[in-house]
Amino acid sequence: MSSISILGLGAMGSALAATLIRKGHEVTIWNRTLSRTEALAAIGATVAASPAEAVAASELAIVCVLDYAAARAVLASAGDALRGRDLVNLTNGTPDDAKSLAAWVEAKRAHYLDGGIMAIPPMIGEAGALILYSGSGALLEKHRAALGALATCRLLGEDPALAALYDLALLSAMYGLFSGFLHAGALVASSGGKVADFLPLLLPWLEAMNGTLPDLAEKIDSGLHSRNVVSNLAMQTIALENIVRASQERHISPDFIEPMRQLAAARVDRGHGGDDISGVVELIRKQK
Ligand code: NDP
Repeated sequence: MSSISILGLGAMGSALAATLIRKGHEVTIWNRTLSRTEALAAIGATVAASPAEAVAASELAIVCVLDYAAARAVLASAGDALRGRDLVNLTNGTPDDAKSLAAWVEAKRAHYLDGGIMAIPPMIGEAGALILYSGSGALLEKHRAALGALATCRLLGEDPALAALYDLALLSAMYGLFSGFLHAGALVASSGGKVADFLPLLLPWLEAMNGTLPDLAEKIDSGLHSRNVVSNLAMQTIALENIVRASQERHISPDFIEPMRQLAAARVDRGHGGDDISGVVELIRKQK
């Protein structure tokens, strides 16, 4: 059994704390709004009066608040209590946010591990939950019993920015899927169709298209976008234009699909119409 403090008891922090309690760990909690501590106190958590008290109470302190500005404010208010402590930050942010907070924490003589939660609160502690980590691998090993009780742990490397980078890359793919799904749903609904009835067509289609990703990944990694092309970009650009036109005909906003059409058309204009759609990444990469 380990002692862990959880700072931040929103939907995610509460799920982290409840899971650790359920799995037999000793949990101390702190939240800016005190009322959020009540349900967890009722199942055995100890309530700390301040971030300093929470950080000092346990072998490990986990911060999970809305954003990095809040995380830094919470940790700053812990003051000298940070010295020598082990901190894991599971707040969502950018790679630069993570790097900067890691340096700030280490300057306070505390030990820092950054994490990105790839799960929603009900998944915490269950088989499908994954948390990406980067930073101190030693800290992860030291607290593996507690961190492993929350989710599968995947250490990406010693660079503290990596967990945030891969977390956002996974979320970016997810939001691409969601935006495509919302647009497809609007198209289907424009003819009176039910989106639920569309799913038996959509889900196998997405599974089939997932099967093309290894080939596209190889093309992105090698930069060789003209190898073994079966669906060239010039042809796909016409399909993208047709989606935009169909949306306009049906009075549906083309906002989700239009940026993709523009990038594909720009790539075709530059003479890459015979390449695969993977080549669009070259235009994205250039915008530094
Ligand atoms: P909630 O909106 O439910 O809770 C936000 C938490 O942040 C609350 O505890 C809130 O305190 C605290 N907070 C906000 N601003 C401050 C501040 N200035 N000072 C102190 N505390 C502050 O968010 P979640 O719990 O859902 O998310 C927390 C983190 O977990 C986010 O970074 C999110 O991206 C990440 N995450 C969430 C997932 C989810 O599905 N929920 C999935 C994966 C990651 P108060 O109660 O006082 O308002």
